[in-house]
This record gives sequence, structure tokens and C-alpha cells, in this order.
Amino acid sequence: FNQIPEKYPVPGQTVIYDTSKKIDLDTVPLHGGVLIKILDLSIDPYMRSRMRPPEVRSYLPAFELGKSIVGFGIGMVIRSENAKYKAGDHVYGILECQHYSVHDTSDLRVLENKHKLPWSTYLGVLGMPGKTAYMAWKEFSDAKKGETVFVSAGAGPVGSLVLQLAKMDGLTTIGSAGSQEKLDFMKEIGTDVCFNYKEGNTLKILRDAKGIDIYWDNVGGETLDHALATAHLNGRFIECGMISGYNTGLNAPMPNLIQIIAQSLTLHGFIVTRLEAKYEEEFYKVLPPLVESGKIKHKEEITNGLEKVGDVILAVQKGDNKAKAVIHVADD
Ligand code: NDP
Repeated sequence: FNQIPEKYPVPGQTVIYDTSKKIDLDTVPLHGGVLIKILDLSIDPYMRSRMRPPEVRSYLPAFELGKSIVGFGIGMVIRSENAKYKAGDHVYGILECQHYSVHDTSDLRVLENKHKLPWSTYLGVLGMPGKTAYMAWKEFSDAKKGETVFVSAGAGPVGSLVLQLAKMDGLTTIGSAGSQEKLDFMKEIGTDVCFNYKEGNTLKILRDAKGIDIYWDNVGGETLDHALATAHLNGRFIECGMISGYNTGLNAPMPNLIQIIAQSLTLHGFIVTRLEAKYEEEFYKVLPPLVESGKIKHKEEITNGLEKVGDVILAVQKGDNKAKAVIHVADD
């Protein structure tokens, strides 16, 4: 991590690909941990919030200048000093954006992959974004057949799983995204109403749909305001993300916030890691067979090469990514 960005991260400045530090794979001390070869890295919107001055409060610590940035990743154990992990195991956890890493094992999960899915799947629909959608939908939606849900950033790894879970629960689904390709994907997964929010018609579309019972918010800002303007009585707002403010430092003013009171709305803010203790075992039991059978669809955009991390971070913030962004670092 080389420089705190003022607005959007700048490839080649915010993070740099530094080849000056080497690890001797045979001799590096493990201190009771494991040596991992990194295979795939997930690039996610929240990473922008860690690119901030350390004194600014947030739910995860700021990245440290001069150190590797970290994110969810899949690695293969090369050497181990912990009996629970053996060479050849594939592990999931928060990993450094590096080719190799010495790791303590406290947050590493061994992936069994009984369903023989590509490893990158465990970073998207079966990883942190998938858990976010599954766990918070179960915890907060109180979904009832016949209701209407609106999901912003509906083609992304979080939004696209929410739309499919909502459809399985018998809801009418509305999804927004910023490109035709993303609208096509939302149609493919069975979304009833898909629209491009960049055309400025969010309020009209939600009014035409006769309002919404649930809003899954991935973007915040004026989209949240439009959702508030059209919320039914006793609506549920699941406040997952506010990407429209991540690169500006500000959110647009929201005159319809008063509807939280007027419509007795329930807004759920959450951090997925706080739901894991309750839902993680169920998630790994229920989701992989649905993904393997094709009943749950998902999409990935895999970019080869660790040196591309900076470009992909920017693409995810701007919406230039076509699907769940993964960096492929090495084959196993
Ligand atoms: P996506 O892959 O969908 O990427 C985010 C997308 O947001 C971009 O591709 C872009 O798509 C869209 N976007 C960017 N800027 C704006 C804007 N100004 N207005 C509207 N849309 C915009 O992301 P994920 O599915 O991984 O994550 C979705 C949200 O969930 C994020 O906000 C993330 O921070 C949050 N999250 C929260 C978690 C939690 O525990 N609370 C855990 C995981 C994710 P386009 O503009 O083309 O539609």
C-alpha cells in the first residue's frame, strides 16, 4: 500500500506491485503457522474503506503504508507447523496480496470442495459476498411470498445472490445496475424488473412497480432516497453497502430519510462477519450443491497476474468490472 487516495484509487500509485521483497520458501520461519502459495485473490468494494488515514474510524483497520494490502483469498499450504493443516490443503481466509505468505492459522478455513468447483467460486458466490447475501437475507428480510424487493448493484456477487434467494422465496424482484451486460445477467437469473440506474429513472421504476417491501441497499446515496420514497408500510431496509459514497467522502443529501419514521421502516445495518457464527456451517451445507447443480447462477471476471491488483481495485469502484472480480495469481 503506497498512497492514500483522495477520491478514486489510482493504479500504479495507490497500490504498487513491488518485487523487491523475497521469501525463501525452504527456510522462512513459520512460528507455528503455515507457508501458503496464493492462488486467487478477491477484489471487493470494501477494500476502498481500508485505504484511509488510520485515525479515521471504521469497522476494519486502515491498510498500513508500505505493507501488503490484504483481502479474502484462496491459497495452498506448502509447509505447515500446525497439525490441523497439511501441505496440499486449500485454505480460505484473509491473505496478503502476495505470491507467497507466512500465516498464523487463526482465521484460515480448510476448503474441502466436495463439489469440485473452481477455487475462485469460494471467493464469490461461496465466499464472503455469498455469505453476505445468504446470511443477511435470512437474518433480516422477513420475506413473504408476493412481496416486492429492490436490490441495487443487483448484478454483483452480493446483489445477484440476493435476487435469486428472493425469487426462491416467491418475491417480485427489481434489480438495478450500470451496464447492459449487467442487466442481461440479472434477466438471466430471473429478475422481474431490471433497469440501468444511470438513465436516472429509479424513482419512476419503483413507482411503476407500486412500491417496495424490502430494499437491499448496496449503493446508498440518492438510490436509498428513492427507495425510501416508495417504501410500503413496515418495509425492511437491509443496509449492506453505500458504494456511491466510497470515493467521494460524502453521500448525497436524503430528504426522504423522514420515511423511516413515517412508514415505520426497519433498517438493518450489518457486517457479514458478525453473522458467521450463526450461519456459516449452514451456508457451506446449503449453497455448494445449489451452485454445482446450476440452480444458483453466478458470474466471475478473472484477471491474471498479481501486478493487476491496482487496476482491478479501480474497476470495482467504478463499476467497470463485469462480474465478481478475482485476481488469479497461480495454479495449484
Ligand atoms: P459489486 O461487484 O456489485 O461492485 C460494486 C458495484 O457497485 C460496481 O460494480 C458498480 O456497478 C456499482 N456502483 C459503483 N458506484 C456506484 C454508484 N455511485 N451508484 C450505484 N452503483 C454504483 O460489489 P459486491 O457485490 O461485492 O458488494 C456490493 C455491496 O455490498 C458493496 O457496497 C459492498 O461494500 C457491500 N458489502 C457489505 C458487506 C457487509 O458485511 N455489510 C459485505 C460485502 C459487501 P454498476 O455501477 O455498473 O452497477
